Amino acid sequence: MHTIIGAGVSGLSSAQLLKEKGFETTVLEKSSKPGGLIKCDVVDGHLFHRVGGHVFNTKVEKVNDWFWNRFNKEQDFIATKRNAGIFMQEQFLAYPLENSLYKFDEGTIRNIFNELIDLDQQASKEYHNFEDFLKGNFGNTLYQLYFKPYNHKIWKTDLSQVALPWLDGKLPMPNHREIIMSNILRKEEGNMVHSSFFYPEKNGSQFIADNLAKGLNIQYNQAVNTLQYNNNAWVINEAFNSEYIVYTGDIRLLHQMIKGVPSEIQEQLVAVSNLQSNGTSNLLCETDASDHSWLYLPDEGIPAHRIIYTGNFSANNQPKDGRASCTVEFSGYTPVEEMEKAIKKLPGNLKMIDYNYEANSYVIQQQGDREKINALKNSLAQYNIYLVGRFAEWEYHNMDKAIESSMHLADQF
Ligand SMILES: Cc1cc2nc3c(=O)[nH]c(=O)nc-3n(C[C@H](O)[C@H](O)[C@H](O)COP(=O)(O)OP(=O)(O)OC[C@H]3O[C@@H](n4cnc5c(N)ncnc54)[C@H](O)[C@@H]3O)c2cc1C
Repeated sequence: MHTIIGAGVSGLSSAQLLKEKGFETTVLEKSSKPGGLIKCDVVDGHLFHRVGGHVFNTKVEKVNDWFWNRFNKEQDFIATKRNAGIFMQEQFLAYPLENSLYKFDEGTIRNIFNELIDLDQQASKEYHNFEDFLKGNFGNTLYQLYFKPYNHKIWKTDLSQVALPWLDGKLPMPNHREIIMSNILRKEEGNMVHSSFFYPEKNGSQFIADNLAKGLNIQYNQAVNTLQYNNNAWVINEAFNSEYIVYTGDIRLLHQMIKGVPSEIQEQLVAVSNLQSNGTSNLLCETDASDHSWLYLPDEGIPAHRIIYTGNFSANNQPKDGRASCTVEFSGYTPVEEMEKAIKKLPGNLKMIDYNYEANSYVIQQQGDREKINALKNSLAQYNIYLVGRFAEWEYHNMDKAIESSMHLADQF
């Protein structure tokens, strides 16, 4: 018997993959519906991505095949090309910013391009943290102008402490000559992460969760608080027995939950109990029409970091004759009065409909964290407990990487 803790993308895909292999699975979920971070609600006819807008795409072939075997791409999804923008210094700029540098004043343009040309002539370097990477690739002017304020807003941490391998595949890899050419030729963004994506016709990412939950044995409102290892099996909440556990919750909480393992493993559990994370506050708003899919907001004077025009993703996301909807994201806990004040500085005559605060949304890996987590994963696997997902592995997983990780788990059985 396999018990999966959590009915987010990781738990649901793990359960489906194990079921495909013929294993009996039960999913225990503390909330009342599936989805975790991808959950959505409908509020006054507007679809609210409670933890920020979610779209699907993947470059991982086996995830692509598995996902589209389960879903009807043509019937249930809309294929969309991203039109991202940047709103800074009260003007709209194209995304990525490197391609619209020509819009800045002459002094700034000269500084940026002098630095880019100098960087291009230097031998390639190995970077050890996120701050060095950004400065070393884009130069100090662009770092101070855009990358520093934007990333500080999201991560709320010292970027020089952020480990680089953790951001693998997520980092912009600039080609200095291409940046110069793009600014002369005024070229738009190319083949970047999420430059095109799929979005469900109805119910946003909740549709993905609801479908992944189909056919599974899921017990909702069932928070797992204790896991006791006893006679080669796990006793969950002093009530259920299970031979195997797949845990997709927060790795930091395991040291309080797990009992009956050797003291070395208890020490490993304690060693990951202080990992750093950020929450997100989201404001569902009405907005004037916009052709953007999302807008990045690097200015320090605006506490929000992104507007996602979820109403543009599917016509079903907002009332037929009403105004369009969007979700404004703020990193960390932001009181609702502060969010309402902040949206007055944003374009689109935004009007609040609803808000949500999610205490855990962004994980932050510092130097050495990944090694500690991998060692713990190996130790726990000897006791048939497996860590899968964004918060259990403490990885910056998107949905596709969460599914890939579930596939990796299923391959072990
Ligand atoms: C703002 C934001 C935007 C994003 N946008 C995108 C995007 O556009 N595209 C994309 O692919 N990805 C996106 N992601 C990433 C995506 O949200 C994650 O990859 C994915 O949702 C992670 O799923 P998970 O199952 O690992 O974790 P979660 O979604 O957190 O699921 C864990 C589940 O476990 C349950 N649980 C936890 N502890 C217990 C317990 N003790 N007992 C019982 N149940 C428990 C929780 O309630 C939850 O349902 C975004 C993330 C954020 C924060």
